Amino acid sequence: MKNSLLLFLILFSASLFAQTQYLHCGHILHPDIKKIVAEQTIIIEGKNIKEIKEGYLEAPAGVAVIDLKDQYVLPGLMDMHVHLEMESNPKGYENRFRENEADVALKATQYCDRTLMAGFTTVRDLGGSGVNVSLQKAIARGFIRGPRIYTAEKSLATTGGHADPTNGVRNDLKGDPGPKEGVVNSVEDAKKAVRQRYKNGADVIKITATGGVLSVAKDGSGPQFTIEEIKAVVETANDYGMTTAAHAHGKEGMRRAVLGGIHSIEHGTYMDEEIMDLMKEKGTYYVPTILAGNFVAEKAKIPGFYPEMVVPKALAIGPQIQRTFGKAYKRGVKIAFGTDSGVSYHGDNAREFGLMVEAGMPPMEAIYAATINTADLLRISDKAGSISPGKWADLIAVEQNPLEDITTLEKVQFVMKEGKVYKLKGLAKH
Ligand SMILES: [Zn+2]
Repeated sequence: MKNSLLLFLILFSASLFAQTQYLHCGHILHPDIKKIVAEQTIIIEGKNIKEIKEGYLEAPAGVAVIDLKDQYVLPGLMDMHVHLEMESNPKGYENRFRENEADVALKATQYCDRTLMAGFTTVRDLGGSGVNVSLQKAIARGFIRGPRIYTAEKSLATTGGHADPTNGVRNDLKGDPGPKEGVVNSVEDAKKAVRQRYKNGADVIKITATGGVLSVAKDGSGPQFTIEEIKAVVETANDYGMTTAAHAHGKEGMRRAVLGGIHSIEHGTYMDEEIMDLMKEKGTYYVPTILAGNFVAEKAKIPGFYPEMVVPKALAIGPQIQRTFGKAYKRGVKIAFGTDSGVSYHGDNAREFGLMVEAGMPPMEAIYAATINTADLLRISDKAGSISPGKWADLIAVEQNPLEDITTLEKVQFVMKEGKVYKLKGLAKH
């Protein structure tokens, strides 16, 4: 009895002190029902959406009103593939030897800021050195501005594989990284590497199921994990409540990843119809990262931008991703929005929408992929992805109708995350 009274008092005082805000929205784009509705008021209480009402409701005294009558309001966007610790730059490879963790972290605060200001309120960081875990905490605690982060901490690789941290390094500096460092060569290593990531604060496990473009290694698409290793990764991750993502360019690595139970395939460059059907059967998401493909193909033409070993891989794999994406969408593979920002520039994330639409996906479907599907992949559909009562007040606004001009999402005017306004009328709020 005493306890329930106490609980009542706590809840009562919380609702009394939670700040209420009214958002007058000219239009709301609801991805969940795939509709735009005009003249609405969103009532926000504290960090959450309380209600959505028809018309522009007059606010009681003391309630803040935000005027978005000339805007299109959408749920905060989500990017399932970013690397907040890095950003492409011809000096990137040598910087690994010059920069301390603090240097990486300080630069990354800018990348986090740019990502949030671009309208991305939630991201999945698919691999860095572990600074990404600190970024997640710093943002959640309000020390720096940025999106809500779900992080893989460090990607898992096999020896010499795509995320082996010592690829391309002089032999006497290579050492022999193992599961603690995210390098696995057996089922037992795989289990330990996953458990180590959990201990280090990861929310998701990322594996490099095939070679990759930007590593200083010859092969960009062959398989690099055995199916037994992948299954061990997935089972262990599932035990610890974590989801799994597989970087994959070539078909065989993708096949093993999908059969092994991985939740999302990243890039998916040489995905064919057999793999697409397998993904449909298993419910595997495809995170395309078309923007990264275009970026590396373009930069590979600039002499010296990438090491020599990277150039032919970038030229071959880069332009293929958009074609694969178009086919996968038409075949009915579930798509979750992701850019691989960090390969391309942070804050340019929304350029992916234009590339998705260009490949044949209708704008509403592209927005659905960046809200509803991303929330599903992150298992946060009860808190994010749509503008509905009880969900986080993660909202953005743009000036044009995105269904008529998808590039309006590249010029986000208003950003709110958990009820806090970060950008208003196109300007950052401090
Ligand atoms: Zn990536």
